Amino acid sequence: MSNATKLIHSIPVDPLTGSISVPIYQTSTFVQEAPGENKGYDYARSNNPTRAVLEKIIADLEGGATGAAFASGLAAIDAVVKLLQSGDEILAVDDIYGGAFRLFTHIYAKFGIKINYVDTTDVANVIDALTPQTKLIWLETPTNPTLKISDIESIAKIAQQNKILLCVDSTFASPALQQPIALGADIVVHSATKYLGGHSDLIAGLVVCKTQELGDQIKFIQNASGAILSPNDSWLVIRGIETLHLRVQQHCRNAQAVAEFLVDHPAIDKVYYPGLKEHHNHHIAAKQQSGFGGIISFTLKEDTELAAKNVVCGTQYFKLAESLGGVKSLLCHPATMTHKSIPAQTRQAAGVADSLIRLSVGLEDVQDLIQDIDIALTKTLQKNRVVAEANAA
Ligand SMILES: *Cc1c(COP(=O)(O)O)cnc(C)c1O
Repeated sequence: MSNATKLIHSIPVDPLTGSISVPIYQTSTFVQEAPGENKGYDYARSNNPTRAVLEKIIADLEGGATGAAFASGLAAIDAVVKLLQSGDEILAVDDIYGGAFRLFTHIYAKFGIKINYVDTTDVANVIDALTPQTKLIWLETPTNPTLKISDIESIAKIAQQNKILLCVDSTFASPALQQPIALGADIVVHSATKYLGGHSDLIAGLVVCKTQELGDQIKFIQNASGAILSPNDSWLVIRGIETLHLRVQQHCRNAQAVAEFLVDHPAIDKVYYPGLKEHHNHHIAAKQQSGFGGIISFTLKEDTELAAKNVVCGTQYFKLAESLGGVKSLLCHPATMTHKSIPAQTRQAAGVADSLIRLSVGLEDVQDLIQDIDIALTKTLQKNRVVAEANAA
């Protein structure tokens, strides 16, 4: 069975009524025949049939034993960190999602969990940074916003040898492009807000575990902490997943064309896209992903906030907004938006230059998208020329 067929038919027909769309069980509780005697559901925080369908689908798509659906990607990440105890250490990728950085550094550090940020694109750095307290390796691949690629299989071997859990935030790839569990990871998390939902209309997070045992611990945390996904939003994620493969294929095709166009543009300095041969660890992306995704970042030759602002305010189809992975193309300026809270020097050292712009390439016609970005870039070039001439005169 091909992936597309498997995906579409992983969404079950309702066994009760034959409804081809998964029913939304908008309920808080379930009537019992006698105390403790029920149809598998007792209270909707603990379990809900609509959410249970989504949890089964994502477990199947990732090749894991269990899935768990949360109210946001960050709630999903939070549940994984709760597997740890005071005194444990997390070894995390340095170009980590800003929200995960905030959660680790400003919440969990106070509870005695230590975080060690490492450039995981080089496996040797991971080996060097391990300590006897390291209990969790946290990868994100590709990363946000510089699309760094880490070798999941090699790092999984190190984790296994040292009895350390490996969790991969696979949001940028989605299960359509990458299966971390097959490469040796123990846990996969997703912000389903992005490609899985796919329509910029919900906030959701997912955790998939390789083993039932680990999955039971996550389920326990999900019920104990309570940050569950609602039945309505579970249904919306299921609805999004129905077209995941189709959407992601087109996101990849469009992004590759836009990236290749940007490389040759006179206004551009660097382009970050794993599908470009010159991208650092392109060969690893090619090995562990079945496509390179829909996110591109680039910097301008004129590396200033002002030049970047002119570009992000000069497009018509690329809308200026945070988030990514939806049908409509978006762009953002990390230095003043998603990464604003990080001190300028730290931010620049991590590759988030003043002029860095991130594109979430959507599903519009690619020629329209290229023309849109070309007009904004060319305008900036012209403005610079006018300023340069004025200065010279
Ligand atoms: C957006 C995002 C998150 C957080 O997800 P929310 O649904 O916004 O809470 C985590 N990791 C990555 C890589 C993301 O892009």
